Amino acid sequence: MLIVQKYGGTSVGSLERIRAVAERVAETVRAGNRVAVVVSAMSGETDRLIGLASQLGKSPDEREMDLLLSSGERVSAALTAIAVQDLGIRSMSFTGRQSGIITDTAHTRAKIEKITGERIRKALESGAVAVIAGFQGVTEGTGDVTTLGRGGSDLTAVALASALKADLCEIYTDVEGVYTADPNIVPEARKMEKVSYDEMLELASLGAKVLQTRSVEFAKKYNVPLVVKSSFNNAAGTFIVQEDEEMEKVLVSGVTYDKNQSRLTILGVPDKPGIAGKLFTQIAGAGLVVDMIVQNISPDGKAADISFTIPRTDSRKGLEITRKVAGELGAKNVDLKEDISKVSVVGVGMRTHSGVASRMFDTLARHGINIMMISTSEIKVSCVIEAKYTELAVRALHEEFNLEKAA
Ligand code: ASP
Ligand code: MG
Repeated sequence: MLIVQKYGGTSVGSLERIRAVAERVAETVRAGNRVAVVVSAMSGETDRLIGLASQLGKSPDEREMDLLLSSGERVSAALTAIAVQDLGIRSMSFTGRQSGIITDTAHTRAKIEKITGERIRKALESGAVAVIAGFQGVTEGTGDVTTLGRGGSDLTAVALASALKADLCEIYTDVEGVYTADPNIVPEARKMEKVSYDEMLELASLGAKVLQTRSVEFAKKYNVPLVVKSSFNNAAGTFIVQEDEEMEKVLVSGVTYDKNQSRLTILGVPDKPGIAGKLFTQIAGAGLVVDMIVQNISPDGKAADISFTIPRTDSRKGLEITRKVAGELGAKNVDLKEDISKVSVVGVGMRTHSGVASRMFDTLARHGINIMMISTSEIKVSCVIEAKYTELAVRALHEEFNLEKAA
């Protein structure tokens, strides 16, 4: 088999950990596989580098940030190759450029356009282990170094697995897989044996931090077989695969939460055509990503309140812009609420079964939790609630949908 193994920051967080990674790589090779390894920077390194830059410049140029940040992954790639060599196995490390990872020019959040991968193929064909620095590429024209957004080594691994037509892409991390809920909140949470790409996408974007969302999108699009597992033991991980019939029988696969959102409400806007358009054009123009939107019309039908959520880190910016637009629209007031959280249930079974939303609302009500906003998709129901009830809500929903029991 040709296997791509990706090791995250904690998995290469110390020399000892890198030795352990080398051992695992060696075992995989000895079992008769060809192995390409993708590594993240040692844990904390990317943040450390960002910290250094911020001490020297107020808003450092993104081109320079990319060159800076790409160095973290290069260090761990070279060290990993050295550790593998020390076990008597040939190995070579490669930067993004040497791997032929070509991206667009969107510095700090570049998209992979293609992977030529010539040198990696040659190394693999010669029987060597190729170790690739994750998270980075180069632009086609100028060859400037780019990075793929935080957590981007996952994307490197998945895209490389696709380019090399690997049989499997293994994502090694510090948890044993994908759980039915955060085990820190729900002790009964169960590790899932498998989860569909769509469910994983919802879980990833809803705040379950196991995989970068873009990497899951990529894996789905190109049908890359993925497994998430721990680099700290040999437990079976969670497979991320195409949906099957068995999965559809399960109403809810997981409960997740996101505490990183804020709610902005613009009160008393005139209820007439064009208002929402004007508001959200300006919000989007400022680069703010809106998640949920709710509009209420006053009983006399003349005014509306519009609430929406944005990432917590953008609260201040959002408040400023919304105040400005509110003034222009003749609205009464703007309110910012930060102590909220979004709790969601996810499951492909919702496509074919009804009643999940009402059961979720009932469960929250029984626990005295007020729902502030609701949004649904084909396979997800999300409710915004007071942040202080997050843990209670997650536990209650986990129990309501019997997630502690294997399907
Ligand atoms: N080192 C980068 C980050 O912290 C990329 C990664 O770890 O995947 O976001
Ligand atoms: Mg990661």
